[in-house]
Amino acid sequence: MDAPEADTALHSSEELLMRIIDNLAEGLIVFGPEGQSLHWNRRALAMHGYAQHDEKMANLAKISEDYVLLSPEGQALPMEQWPIQRLLRGEPVDDVEISLINTRQHWTRSFSYGGVLLRDAEGKPQFGLLTIRDITERKQAEKARTEAEQRLQLAVDIAHLGAWEWSVLDNSVYYSAQWKKLLGFEEADLPDKLDEWSNRLHPADRERVLNEVRTFVQHPVGTLKLEYRMRHRDELHRWMVAQAIASLDEQGHTVKLIGTMLDVTEQKQIEQRLLEVAQHDPLTGLPNRALIFDYASHLLAAAQRKHSRGALLFIDLDRFKPVNDLYGHEIGDSLLKEVGARLTACVRHEDLIGRIGGDEFVIVLSDIGKDFSALTAAQHVIDSLSRPFQIGGFDLSISASVGISFFPRHGINVDTLLHAADLAMYQAKEAGRGGYVVYTSELCNRLDTSASIEARLKDGLQNQRLQLHYQPVLNMETGKMIGAEALLRLPADGHEPIGPDRFIPIAESAGMIAELGDWVTREVCRQHREWRALGLPPLIIAMNVSSLQFRQRGFVARLLAIVEQSQIEPGCFQIEVTESTVMEGIDEAIGMLTEIHAAGIYIALDDFGTGYSSLSDLSHMPLDKLKLDPSIVQGLTDDRSSQAITEAIIAFGHTLNLEIVGEGIESEQSLNYLRLHGCQEVQGNLFSGAMPAMEFVDWYRKKEHAQWHA
Ligand code: C2E
Ligand code: MG
Ligand code: MG
Repeated sequence: MDAPEADTALHSSEELLMRIIDNLAEGLIVFGPEGQSLHWNRRALAMHGYAQHDEKMANLAKISEDYVLLSPEGQALPMEQWPIQRLLRGEPVDDVEISLINTRQHWTRSFSYGGVLLRDAEGKPQFGLLTIRDITERKQAEKARTEAEQRLQLAVDIAHLGAWEWSVLDNSVYYSAQWKKLLGFEEADLPDKLDEWSNRLHPADRERVLNEVRTFVQHPVGTLKLEYRMRHRDELHRWMVAQAIASLDEQGHTVKLIGTMLDVTEQKQIEQRLLEVAQHDPLTGLPNRALIFDYASHLLAAAQRKHSRGALLFIDLDRFKPVNDLYGHEIGDSLLKEVGARLTACVRHEDLIGRIGGDEFVIVLSDIGKDFSALTAAQHVIDSLSRPFQIGGFDLSISASVGISFFPRHGINVDTLLHAADLAMYQAKEAGRGGYVVYTSELCNRLDTSASIEARLKDGLQNQRLQLHYQPVLNMETGKMIGAEALLRLPADGHEPIGPDRFIPIAESAGMIAELGDWVTREVCRQHREWRALGLPPLIIAMNVSSLQFRQRGFVARLLAIVEQSQIEPGCFQIEVTESTVMEGIDEAIGMLTEIHAAGIYIALDDFGTGYSSLSDLSHMPLDKLKLDPSIVQGLTDDRSSQAITEAIIAFGHTLNLEIVGEGIESEQSLNYLRLHGCQEVQGNLFSGAMPAMEFVDWYRKKEHAQWHA
């Protein structure tokens, strides 16, 4: 090969090399022994934002003016830490991650650098090769993941969730720092030992919990949920909820449980307080309706087993209402307290006394025999209550009418016995007050009995003589009307007026409740359209749904169909159900409520605070509002337990994002108390009672007018 040929060959191999280098997927920079760059391949130029290799790029110091280099920890790297300089010093450069900020072009990218130093025969550096890979996307993904992990960790910390793991095979455990903190310990102060958990379990819970764990280990299906008390560092017990899932081997055997633990003591305490307060009438301290039902069912079951007989006394005070109206609620309340005390003195220790409503009391005599008769007890009650009461400097006289039913003769469940005694009590009142009457089946045929009420209801439905009255619901803050509650009225027609509390149960047992309910739904929708036509704003009208009505087959479908046909905005419609309605058959109830809620209809839980639902059950329901029961609201002025329960309910309601409605507000004091504690909506005679639809319109206009001119 002659010289020019060799030259050409050399040239072409150099060219070939350059072409290969230029087409590499990686960036490549060739530099000389002083660090001056000799060649950048196309990829390297593009990565660094250069169009082509130029003079300036030979000089590292010049290049450094355009960049800030950062280590993975985010520290700025001085030039002697740059990969080129490190290579020249003979240090290895292998997968060195650096982020580059280009201060002129304003971009940041992350690169991974590798390099080799080629030396001449004497070992002096001749060339350096630096390879560069763009790892920006990987870095961003990593960063996003770390951030997500940090956020999760934060959420876990915020929720105070402790984490734990237990290896079933060797009993080794891990407890997170937060887990130990739940028990009052620093991370180092509590060893990762299984005993630290099991020995701290409350003796009353230990066996149950260990059994539940054992069963789950053997049949690891789904999630294990445990509730138990644990001894804290301060020696007191805290309520914990632990949840776990199992990790399985190939044969499906549990090798490990992985779980969380949460301190729910506070929630438990609120629940407990609600339960205690909710089962007692705040005024007299006597058991309320809910507890009476509960307790009386037990008594009845026991009586049935022992074949013993008992009686139920339904006591209604005569002339209580005028005393209350004349002397005011405070005097009325003191009188009721005193009545409670006197009743207690009339019966034996084993008998049950409760207050079931305004001036209505119940006594359950659990075992009556020859030496203790129900009639004697009833006479005792009447005599005792007809003695004058000295209250607030007044001499007050009332009397009592008592209805009596016997078990098992008149029934063996509380409902039936109460109803029978109630009817007998009405009879006693009509017979001239201050006496007692024993239930007989003939009572049912009397005029003002269920049968006659049923007939009036039927007539009302057929001849369109039923009416809805409307009670305004106002926004606490603005005082503006935001809605109305529809309350059903049966025309009196010369009879004694009776309220829905009395006739709804009768409609239920007569099988008329579905028809009645549908009528109310249609009427509410029609009224809404009429009010809109009269220029009223889109008020939310609430309709009450009784327990049996809710359970009627097809209730949800009919409700939704009527609302849809009427073409009113579903957001202007609200249903009100009570705790007991939703608590029986809770899963089915949740399903139904969810469907109603999904259609845009509001759901309020009525008469809240008188029953005793578990708060955690309520948290699974699609509710919008809690309506505080009037008996609680009215106790707010001076009764500590009403205040306690109100505060607990409001706090609880707010954690579930529920609006709190104060119902039955009669005094400024109750109103102020509720305002102070964050109740958002108000309803009660202080503003207005329930009115016929046209009166309601007048009321609204007057109120608007007054506000406008205020
Ligand atoms: P509720 O849904 O809790 O309705 C509130 C009751 O409290 C109404 O009694 C109302 O007039 C009364 N109220 C409101 N503010 C005050 C106040 O400041 N002081 C006092 N003392 N009472 C106040 P009402 O109209 O006798 O209704 C009783 C219950 O009958 C209702 O309780 C509701 O459960 C039921 N009800 C009413 N209308 C219907 C209906 O159309 N269908 C069904 N299923 N039930 C109805
Ligand atoms: Mg209601
Ligand atoms: Mg209510």
